[in-house]
Amino acid sequence: MRPLKNMCQIAVIGGGLAGLAAARHAARLGRLVSLFEGSAMYGGLVATVGEVEGLTVPGKFSGQDLAMHLLEDARKTGVQMLDSAVASLDLGARITLTDEQGRTHHPEAVIVASGGALRKLGVPGEQEFVGRGVSHCATCDGGFFRGMDAVVVGGGDGAVQEALVLARTSRRVIMVCRSPLKAKREYVDKVAARENLSFIWDSEISAILGDQQGVTGVRVRHVKDGSVTEVPCAGVFPFIGAAPSTGFLPVFLLSASGHIHTDAGLASADPRVFAAGGVRAGYGGSLVQAMAEGLGAAESAARLTAH
Ligand SMILES: Cc1cc2nc3c(=O)[nH]c(=O)nc-3n(C[C@H](O)[C@H](O)[C@H](O)COP(=O)(O)OP(=O)(O)OC[C@H]3O[C@@H](n4cnc5c(N)ncnc54)[C@H](O)[C@@H]3O)c2cc1C
Repeated sequence: MRPLKNMCQIAVIGGGLAGLAAARHAARLGRLVSLFEGSAMYGGLVATVGEVEGLTVPGKFSGQDLAMHLLEDARKTGVQMLDSAVASLDLGARITLTDEQGRTHHPEAVIVASGGALRKLGVPGEQEFVGRGVSHCATCDGGFFRGMDAVVVGGGDGAVQEALVLARTSRRVIMVCRSPLKAKREYVDKVAARENLSFIWDSEISAILGDQQGVTGVRVRHVKDGSVTEVPCAGVFPFIGAAPSTGFLPVFLLSASGHIHTDAGLASADPRVFAAGGVRAGYGGSLVQAMAEGLGAAESAARLTAH
């Protein structure tokens, strides 16, 4: 396909909070910036979170509030928003970025902020019952389980946060955890204060059960003694972490876990490619850090590209 006229000096891949912050900042530094977002929604993993935690400013904000604010500001600053996933990145003498429509672009620098996708449980019933009891968004779907029982799988910040949302309306929320909670102290305290939230420890889901109407329960396997029980429930919310979205990148940029290795200036093994947020090896996990890394990557990429 014919290459498009080079409209961008810096390409930002991913419209989560790291990518939006990076694109906006690079444009403010006077660079021509294009941002590629592959899903229908900006904001990444927090796009559907009703109230995000850990911001350093007072007030309550949803993930959408933050994303929309950054998106509007990025647009005003002149960032070109391209609603398209990046399919491949070729790092020859000239960078060639190909999007999912087969269009090619030749930026001088690239900021990869493609974050991660929630890991699947990989058990029978998971795929079959998506939208009929299996969900990844308590804020969006919690209302369907009002007065019913729901199971949350996982013990990190995201899992606990979603369990707390469900506990407001569900009759009972049961968290199935393979190991002790890894969530922040403040979350653990909030969980302890909810009488309708309980735990099944040292256990994992081995199947999601259901019928024509939807989910009816889960099969739970104790990881130490192998015993299996069935727990009735109407909803299942898996939050067992995120796998990096890096399948479109050359492997020499990646660590064994699939994340991007960077130096102190957020440059990868190719000095024209930078990484920020959840996609980066060593990322701490909070969205404040994701946005700060977006700014840092923008500074580094701007230094590389002329006005
Ligand atoms: C349920 C849940 C709740 C959370 N709540 C909080 C919280 O309250 N506070 C907090 O600090 N942290 C929270 N986190 C962690 C937070 O979500 C992450 O730290 C943050 O989202 C990382 O941002 P990011 O921009 O790096 O990546 P992501 O949010 O993963 O965004 C990446 C974006 O890149 C896009 N993308 C991927 N591949 C491509 C491609 N090939 N081409 C184009 N676009 C692509 C994706 O569609 C996505 O929009 C939560 C996480 C979860 C799962």
